[in-house]
Amino acid sequence: MGRIYNFSAGPAMLPEEVLKEAADEMLDYRGTGMSVMEMSHRSKAYEAIIKEAEKDLRDLMNIPDNYKVLFLQGGASTQFAMIPMNLMKNKVADYIITGQWAKKAYQEAKLYGTANAVASSADKTFSYIPDVSDLPISENADYVYICENNTIYGTKYKTLPDTKGKILVSDISSCFLSEPVDVTKYGVLYGGVQKNIGPAGVVIVIIREDLITEDVLPGTPTMLKYKIHADNDSLYNTPPAYGIYICGKVFKWIKNLGGLEAMKEKNEKKAAVLYDFLDQSKLFKGTVEKKDRSLMNVPFVTGNEELDAKFVKEAKAAGFENLKGHRTVGGMRASIYNAMPMEGVQKLVEFMKKFEADNTK
Ligand SMILES: *Cc1c(COP(=O)(O)O)cnc(C)c1O
Repeated sequence: MGRIYNFSAGPAMLPEEVLKEAADEMLDYRGTGMSVMEMSHRSKAYEAIIKEAEKDLRDLMNIPDNYKVLFLQGGASTQFAMIPMNLMKNKVADYIITGQWAKKAYQEAKLYGTANAVASSADKTFSYIPDVSDLPISENADYVYICENNTIYGTKYKTLPDTKGKILVSDISSCFLSEPVDVTKYGVLYGGVQKNIGPAGVVIVIIREDLITEDVLPGTPTMLKYKIHADNDSLYNTPPAYGIYICGKVFKWIKNLGGLEAMKEKNEKKAAVLYDFLDQSKLFKGTVEKKDRSLMNVPFVTGNEELDAKFVKEAKAAGFENLKGHRTVGGMRASIYNAMPMEGVQKLVEFMKKFEADNTK
């Protein structure tokens, strides 16, 4: 049994080269006589790993010097609380609700202050990104929050909201390193890494330095203060050391492929293979408004639940894993992150064509 094409929304495929390299270094990391998993996070060898990972990420995303890069734990979901705890000075924040992850972040923020939903696409099952060009931003909002790529619904912001001078906070979990970003447009960018970068648990936070202060909500646990992690270069306590090591390898893999411009080009070509097929198919159709389509997550349906289930079952048997859509959308979803090869998408489309021929009269 070889490796299959894993279309999971996350944890998702990692580059085979990275996995092989990690396997080669498993028992003896570069002459240390131990695995990275067994290594002190205060050792010279580990210090080099985390420093280099940060440097490579800074290079890839062109992160300015006045932003800190933090490697934290607790996944993306812990940030739903950490953001309001650290940033809600006026106890007001505006949220744009474009799916479940944005909604969860919004609900969490309500535990700490006033969270306003200033726009939403809930009326059409989050199948589009609302117009964000002229939002009713609250005068005293501490920040405006978005989920930039909506993993479940397959939408992505093509232009950022006009925050009317307020700090923009963005969850980039499922579009992390998929294309270039202008970091200077954000106060905080963060993402769980298990969609596009590494093993679950690690969350990377890129935060403008002036937003890291002692002035946090009363009762904020030490572990949930950005300042403690920033002051200690992500080594306040034992970090998710092995996970960060794998992230570092993925950063190198992307650098070797030509960086984020090259990644974007690859991702656009890959997504086009699937979207072009969906747009002319008589059986399958995409569920998202064309202008808002994600390059990473592609939901589609046949319009018939039984046929959807048959497709997922037959696809699995043919080596295309995890194509079942999220329970709130139904149908199918193909997540085609950076590590999914073009060949995987082409073979999926071949399979869909055959399924269509066999199931339409
Ligand atoms: C997966 C995901 C999350 C949740 O990540 P966890 O690491 O499981 O907490 C949050 N936001 C987005 C956009 C996601 O795709």
